[in-house]
Amino acid sequence: SRHTDTTDTIAAIATAPGRGGIGVVRVSGHDLLPFAAALTGKAPDSIQPRRAAIADFLAGDGIAIDRGILLHFPAPHSFTGEDVLELQGHGGPVVMQLLLARAIELGARLADPGEFTRRAFLNDKLDLAQAEAVADLIEASTAQAARSALRSLSGEFSHAVHGIVARLTELRMLIEATLDFPEEEIDAEQLLRDIDAAARLAQLRADIAALQGRARQGAMLRTGLHVVLAGLPNVGKSSLLNRLAGEERAIVTEIAGTTRDALRETIHVEGIPLHVIDTAGLRETDDAVEKIGIERTWQEIARADVVLQIVDARAGVTPADHAIAVRLPAGIERIVVENKCDLAGLVPGRFEDAERAGQVHLRLSAKTGAGIGLLHDELLRVAGWAGHGEDVILARERHLEALNLAAEKSALAERQLRQIELCAEELRLAQEALAAITGEFTSDDLLGVIFSRFCIGK
Ligand code: GDP
Ligand code: ZN
Repeated sequence: SRHTDTTDTIAAIATAPGRGGIGVVRVSGHDLLPFAAALTGKAPDSIQPRRAAIADFLAGDGIAIDRGILLHFPAPHSFTGEDVLELQGHGGPVVMQLLLARAIELGARLADPGEFTRRAFLNDKLDLAQAEAVADLIEASTAQAARSALRSLSGEFSHAVHGIVARLTELRMLIEATLDFPEEEIDAEQLLRDIDAAARLAQLRADIAALQGRARQGAMLRTGLHVVLAGLPNVGKSSLLNRLAGEERAIVTEIAGTTRDALRETIHVEGIPLHVIDTAGLRETDDAVEKIGIERTWQEIARADVVLQIVDARAGVTPADHAIAVRLPAGIERIVVENKCDLAGLVPGRFEDAERAGQVHLRLSAKTGAGIGLLHDELLRVAGWAGHGEDVILARERHLEALNLAAEKSALAERQLRQIELCAEELRLAQEALAAITGEFTSDDLLGVIFSRFCIGK
């Protein structure tokens, strides 16, 4: 168990700053009935658990600060596992500040960011992956991310991890039991066959790989894809950004070379954030300002996941376009977008380069929007988005690293199956990596890092 001896009472404004119909001050601590009684002037035994009661919230001089709703969630049946009070008042900043100040006067201290959730974790109300999901749900920027965070919060991710850990533990026990035999008596091969070690290990590795796949998809929901629009001046880069963003942001002009600063927009396609950057046209120039823009474009390209190389469909890939293509760094995905298909009298479409197998060309029109759906699909394909929304785990970097480590260690275990001691040790390390996801092994440092990123009052 992770119980601590934190006995102090914490308080914070739990609702967002600013004005709203209702504002909530949340208090968590031990035995808060006297606190609630002092705040409201009610008799302690008149305050019923989990029952909304109208109450005056009184200042120290007995004059009411506000009239609102008092809720008492007695330990352990509360979010933090401690006694929790919710003081629902009118949602103005002055009322909330006065109410918070009064709570502090009554002995509470200001809660640190994420401290309520941290206490919930320490009191076994949530495991670490669930606690992180609380923050992820609040921060979710798309419906898909929110749904995925809620699934993690309800324990879906933790449950999958626990399932694998349970089977790992069982296998470890079986394998370690063989170590108890005196060396001359054991036939390692036979014992491993008896416990079906190879098959179990293979299944374990498959389960870890499946979870990795789901987590990687979720990481995509969180971080998205960096997409750079590059090409010669006037091919329609800014128009395409506008089309993707669905509003006039970049300046579209007929004069070549007007986009000198990179413009960026984050758009969402099936919930995947695409950070799209419009850049200066890449051409030979003597203009000093334009040169700086072009330099910056190459820097953006170096950081991109995908480069959309825009060309004019009327001319196709010209030698000048080809000169840009050969300068693109290896390892960055390139999609050739033949824009202005309306002017070229061509229908939208997707095809592969006749000379370079695997090089995708899209033919579309930024101006009319024809073929934009093809671009969406292609970007999702590049992102590796399988589109199985309901399977996705909104994993954090920490989770991915733990899953990668567990995969690596179980692969080593498989390779060393005949050296039982080494195999057992790798399995132990794999288990430890997985257990870190749900927080069975954590340091105070890690908890500090995780919870300090929460907002106050959560
Ligand atoms: P950039 O320099 O590459 O950013 O090009 P712009 O987006 O500024 O476009 C240059 C010119 O081409 C503008 O007049 C646009 O209206 C026009 N344009 C861009 N895309 C299309 C398209 O798909 N069809 C047509 N007909 N015109 C386009
Ligand atoms: Zn432009």
